[in-house]
Amino acid sequence: MVRLYIGVMIFCPRPGSLVYQSKASNRLVLFLLLALPILPTTSFALPKRLIIALDGIAYRDMKALQEGITYKDTHGFQFHRQAFHQGYFPVSRMISTFPSTSDVAWTDIFGDRPLPGYQRTYYSDAVNREISVNGITTSMEHEEQMQWQVENGFLRTLGYVYPSHMYRYEVHELVGNFLNTKSQGDNYYAYIRTPDDAQHLSRDIFAMLGALDEQLQKLRVLYRAREGRDLEILILSDHGNNHAGVGQRIEIRTFLKNAGYRITNSIMNSKDIVLPTAGIESWVEIHNSPAETENLMRLLPHLKGVDVLTAKFPGQTNRFMVTNSKGERATIDWNPSKNSFRYSTETGDPINYLPAVEALSQKNRLDAEGFATADAWMAETLTNRYPLALERIVRGHTCVTLNPANILISLDNHYVHAGWLVKKGSEMVTFGGTHGALDDLNSDGILLSSFAPTQDTSSRRVAGLYDGFPGLRNFRAEENGAEWITGKEQALIRIARVPLDWDRRKLPDDEVFLRIWSSSFTHLDFEVPVELTVKKVGQFSSAEIHRGDHQPVGASESYEAVLIGENGQGDPQPGNAFERHLTLNQPISFPDKCAYERVYAFPADLVLEPQKEYSISGRVRDQNKNIRIFDFTFHTDSRGMPVAY
Ligand SMILES: [Zn+2]
Repeated sequence: MVRLYIGVMIFCPRPGSLVYQSKASNRLVLFLLLALPILPTTSFALPKRLIIALDGIAYRDMKALQEGITYKDTHGFQFHRQAFHQGYFPVSRMISTFPSTSDVAWTDIFGDRPLPGYQRTYYSDAVNREISVNGITTSMEHEEQMQWQVENGFLRTLGYVYPSHMYRYEVHELVGNFLNTKSQGDNYYAYIRTPDDAQHLSRDIFAMLGALDEQLQKLRVLYRAREGRDLEILILSDHGNNHAGVGQRIEIRTFLKNAGYRITNSIMNSKDIVLPTAGIESWVEIHNSPAETENLMRLLPHLKGVDVLTAKFPGQTNRFMVTNSKGERATIDWNPSKNSFRYSTETGDPINYLPAVEALSQKNRLDAEGFATADAWMAETLTNRYPLALERIVRGHTCVTLNPANILISLDNHYVHAGWLVKKGSEMVTFGGTHGALDDLNSDGILLSSFAPTQDTSSRRVAGLYDGFPGLRNFRAEENGAEWITGKEQALIRIARVPLDWDRRKLPDDEVFLRIWSSSFTHLDFEVPVELTVKKVGQFSSAEIHRGDHQPVGASESYEAVLIGENGQGDPQPGNAFERHLTLNQPISFPDKCAYERVYAFPADLVLEPQKEYSISGRVRDQNKNIRIFDFTFHTDSRGMPVAY
């Protein structure tokens, strides 16, 4: 746990504060950060392997750095740098999801249950509403699974404004925490988030990586002396960065309004469009009435800044369309049982994949219907401008999130998608580049090893190369919390890690269950009563919704959201007097008992109104204490049932 000793707020979340920070306050930040104590080392044997999730490092940057690169920084000073060239194998590509964004990519990398949205501002189909999760104070599963990450919300905020300082602090803390870990596992996982923010702000990524290499070299010497063996280091990233500088903002809102559409928060009629937007990105998600998909796909190629558009054919489960800015168009068919794909062009060749089709044909990799397996496509398109495009487009519209978009837009790298205010704020700093698009610059992350040669891979495959990344932190065993779950979403977990992940077959797809975890459960009776309080929350509050009651804090893609306080946390307003008290004491019994966790059916006598927001909290009596183990808010669907995502 990171403890914060900085007593004075030296950062105000306003756009202007970025440019007016003095050198003195810069030094103060660094001093205060590095002054945070590292405890004396312990005598535990250290983990065999250190796995570093390094956010947003592009393949081309690490490759250049390993080979040695001469470059000028943003001030025009020339540098020559080389790093990670001693004690590491040549870097490989780790191809991201589409969209190539952090949350979906990391979730895929660790095989976790897909998240409710691509971003922390997302459209929930069941609620029919755009929902915002506070990105700074909420951690996603993949962050909670790390043995070490910056959990403190204030430090995370600081990272958006002082990414270089925060980065040095992160590296320093990572090394300290690793040396002091009591974790007995073979693998130690750590997440370093600031490189992504730093690149948005044009910081010198080569210098930052060089500093990391230096610290890790020191750690390796220390480790060898202490453990008598070499430390195995594996570094991977979730996506690349286009380094395209200040992009032009796409005029999608005006464009759609002029075409008769209405940008709104819920889809009430065929012209309503929801456009969840967070930060500055090179992709767009569009949620629309399915009947409009075809019209929009014909219209949107005319929007300036569009590179590639993808959509799921309405009413057809395994068929997808892809067009480009010239209006060229192709169809992607997917055979889920064989995980094979077919690319058929209608007009032109929107992603220039016909040469790949031809190559697969010559290698006899196409079946009688013209399908080739995902792996065959991967081998053929790894170094393509749009790597693994068919698989990534299909997964982008089906399984990388629980609420996939109707249409995804991949932008030309000279353009960005952002809210007006966010874009204005970013122009006050040196904007460095972004990610999210389908192309290689945005999508190619890294896989770098000190102990064995690596191969090019993808977010879906990389865990398979490392035994499924065992030994991630099982945060539910250590914390208290709760969430609504359905069998359907649990079925999308790719790597089963806890009993419920493999026992979920007992849960029907569309029913909702309350999953509660608490360390208190480990020494209490299986049927210990859990006292629930359910209250109605006044209005739909866009301010805050928690999927569960995860106490620690999380990151947002966007430092911009911090600057404008877009996702500010606030307590939902107390509404009418609805308040119910219930007792749960009949957990569902699974073949594999899980000591710290209980799963309950939705209480039959709890009647909730449709499309409303409620809060739910739970308490258990442990010895003489009545402990509150969770408290979160949720929405109901059109049947009055809690919405899990
Ligand atoms: Zn990222």
